[in-house]
Amino acid sequence: MERVIVIGGGPAAISLAKILDGKKHVTIIRPEDHSMIYCAMPYVIENIIPLNKTLKKDSLVTDTGATLIRDRVEKVGFEQKYVHTENGNVYTYDKLVIATGADPVLPPIEGVDLKGVLTFKTEDDLKMIVESAENGLKTAVVVGAGAIGIELAQALNSRGIQTHLVDMEEQVLPNLLDKEMAEEVKNELVRLGITLHLGHKVLLMHGKDFVSEVILDKGDTIHLGTIDDCSEDQENEVPPSLVAFAVGMRPNVGIFEGTMLDIGRDGIVINDAMETNIEDVYAVGDCTQFTSAITGDISPGKLATNAVPMGKLLARNMLGSNERYTGFYNGAATKTGNYYVGGTGLSEKAAWGKIEVIVGYAYLTTAFPIMPSAGSVRIKLIAGKDSLRIVGGQVVSEQPATDKIDLITMAIQSGLTAKDLRMFSYSSQPYQSYFPANNLLVQAAEDILEQSEKETIR
Ligand SMILES: Cc1cc2nc3c(=O)[nH]c(=O)nc-3n(C[C@H](O)[C@H](O)[C@H](O)COP(=O)(O)OP(=O)(O)OC[C@H]3O[C@@H](n4cnc5c(N)ncnc54)[C@H](O)[C@@H]3O)c2cc1C
Repeated sequence: MERVIVIGGGPAAISLAKILDGKKHVTIIRPEDHSMIYCAMPYVIENIIPLNKTLKKDSLVTDTGATLIRDRVEKVGFEQKYVHTENGNVYTYDKLVIATGADPVLPPIEGVDLKGVLTFKTEDDLKMIVESAENGLKTAVVVGAGAIGIELAQALNSRGIQTHLVDMEEQVLPNLLDKEMAEEVKNELVRLGITLHLGHKVLLMHGKDFVSEVILDKGDTIHLGTIDDCSEDQENEVPPSLVAFAVGMRPNVGIFEGTMLDIGRDGIVINDAMETNIEDVYAVGDCTQFTSAITGDISPGKLATNAVPMGKLLARNMLGSNERYTGFYNGAATKTGNYYVGGTGLSEKAAWGKIEVIVGYAYLTTAFPIMPSAGSVRIKLIAGKDSLRIVGGQVVSEQPATDKIDLITMAIQSGLTAKDLRMFSYSSQPYQSYFPANNLLVQAAEDILEQSEKETIR
């Protein structure tokens, strides 16, 4: 039987193993004790779920007949087809799948070596934060107001920790939402008690052992606790302060530097069949560089919802299928206080300079407005100015938003236009939608068409 070695044990690798399911001799090599459900990590800090619920069972992999090896690959001999591991073992393969993921970026600024400075991805990061919170951590700074940053900031804040959130952009969720759609989220973070420092960059951090000051550009300083502020029994055990960086992910490709593997600025270069430049070597998930399905440009797409379909497609192709991956749409969501928030495709800002766009808005309620459960829901739909093809959308709602985000992604994937969406055939029920008289997508599409007509008349 063909021997497939997979480097990595994240969602891309697991999805692949599940489909190969005994039909190939699969070996997964990953160093950590447990694969994790990263998306759920903030909710452990928030005390909504216990830590062990975020740990995936090994049986997810081993039940497929795959062998799981806890080790770290240090070197790959691409010509001789072997991998060499930290524990000194050598394994040979017929096919190699690289699924090494991405690591959070820790910027090279003064003070990053101080205690209590961390990123947020591993079980150890999570344990360290939970332990600190349980032992009286008073102040925390989260750098980066993307989805991971705001979820972490909310989690820390919910534990009574005075939390600062810093981002160099003037808005929160800069890669997910346009500024006007992010206003409600920003206001909600402030309402929750989080101190925002938007439009500020962290320049450096000062402290003796732990960080005591975070110096921002434009002259502001965030003062954190010092060891003296902690009770004696906690001394040296608990950081009086914590600074977590959530400023982006970098593909984990260090072991391939200087090898014949083609690596681009955002990861391992692959084609639409997940093939690298080396025969019998494939790469999937966050460690790869791939393109936007909308613009064809290289697109950041470090999401589990991209990694999983990549792993599945490769597995089906390994079993004889001949499928092609069309690229990232990057539908993603988060939650801030009472708001469920999501975005997909291109934002108006991201489209700038690439595609001329026209936008439409709709503001309805999540149930019939006469129902006590009705909450607000706002949508922004983005379409090509001439083609009227849908290229993106954003939702801010008091009820879960991923169903709407996914519908917009489907419209983009299917090449639907605002005219198609104007005729969208929807359902309606008092608890679950607005009155039959209207629908969020239809109203936003009508708004786009109205704007478009005005522009034509002008
Ligand atoms: C806090 C947080 C929240 C997130 N929330 C969401 C969300 O809500 N929705 C969403 O879609 N995505 C979310 N993501 C992103 C998502 O987790 C990643 O996109 C996804 O895990 C990528 O899967 P992957 O298999 O490509 O890589 P990873 O999950 O990163 O797995 C990589 C694997 O490779 C292993 N590895 C690396 N180097 C080696 C080596 N040399 N030898 C052996 N093994 C190695 C690693 O140890 C790991 O097992 C979140 C991420 C984080 C950190």
